Amino acid sequence: MDIFDYLKFDDLVNFTQHLVQTPSESGKEKKVAQAIAQEMEKLHFDEIQVDELNNVIGRIKGDGTGATLLLNGHIDHAEPGAMPEPYSGKIIDGSRFGVAEPVIYGRGAVDMKGAIACMVYAAAAMKKAGIKLKGDVIVAGNPFEEESAAKGVLYMLDHDGITADYAICGEATCLNVYVGHRGNAEVKITVKGKMSHASNPGRGINAVVKGAELVTFILQNYTLPKHDLLGDCTVTILDFVTATSRKAPVVPDRCEIYVDRRFLPGETKEQIMQEFRELINKAKTQIKDLEAEPEITKWGVALYTPPEEVIVEKLVAARQKVMGEAGKLSAWIFGTDGAFVAERGIPTVGFGPGNEYFAHTPEDHLPISHLEIAAKIYAQTVLEICG
Ligand SMILES: [Zn+2]
Repeated sequence: MDIFDYLKFDDLVNFTQHLVQTPSESGKEKKVAQAIAQEMEKLHFDEIQVDELNNVIGRIKGDGTGATLLLNGHIDHAEPGAMPEPYSGKIIDGSRFGVAEPVIYGRGAVDMKGAIACMVYAAAAMKKAGIKLKGDVIVAGNPFEEESAAKGVLYMLDHDGITADYAICGEATCLNVYVGHRGNAEVKITVKGKMSHASNPGRGINAVVKGAELVTFILQNYTLPKHDLLGDCTVTILDFVTATSRKAPVVPDRCEIYVDRRFLPGETKEQIMQEFRELINKAKTQIKDLEAEPEITKWGVALYTPPEEVIVEKLVAARQKVMGEAGKLSAWIFGTDGAFVAERGIPTVGFGPGNEYFAHTPEDHLPISHLEIAAKIYAQTVLEICG
């Protein structure tokens, strides 16, 4: 028998449905964390812990002579919005989503309860098969990803002291191996003008008008770096806020522009600040009386694990074994908790079931076949790393 014979697929599908049927918006993960802990118990994990934030962490222990592998992902989900029956967890015909097979439907199915369920079952297969691992395999479900980027995973790493030699982030990759993603900087630009009576705008400097011109200038003039695997960097405007408490008719003397700048690993806050200062200086040659000051207000870490890293090679080999082809390395378009794991010096690669295109949409669903394939690939990678 090989390890795949010890994966209980019917139970895995049922467990995934149960997770989807357990609502867990950010900050409300207690029930889902407990459901995962109970399943780990049923599957004879050696150690199970649920911390104060509802990080749920299960461990199958090796004999201490091999590498430790962390399989993790988040257990919260985006709000369901107008999605009908968001917590049904029903198995339905996938043709309405353009998928020619049955799917599990519900909020969080693709992002990312299916991956969590696969990770639990892949690790449990080691126990079931009676394999003596050399290194530990840790399965962790982290809260607070959707709302407060990385709060849960950072608590697990820094407070619970969880560490590993390698990690797999299970955010949906449509069963491809992802080597990372761009980082995201939020830059706030404060534009200052001069107040005057609105009946006499020529006496003032209209900060809203200056800000609007600056927005156009930034979008037209920002030269951005490119990357073969992670994709090209982008810039867009997130928000435009007039920061006056207008009562009387006045020319506004202040506005705030919020800019999203996706960046590559290696780019620093200082570099990006410098770019914005230079852009503003250039804009000043075209926009009369422009006064603007940039400031970085959010920083989401970029992730890049090179293809020659052991965890990437092992995962690709596992995919080859299970799916018959290695596939093409790619990257997420959005950010993940995996970047924060990698920032702690743990090489981290991405692999998960489901098409990330449907994350946070009313069409949230997960093809049943992806569960089986992902669980097999996780199990094979565990064997390779910890076996
Ligand atoms: Zn996600």
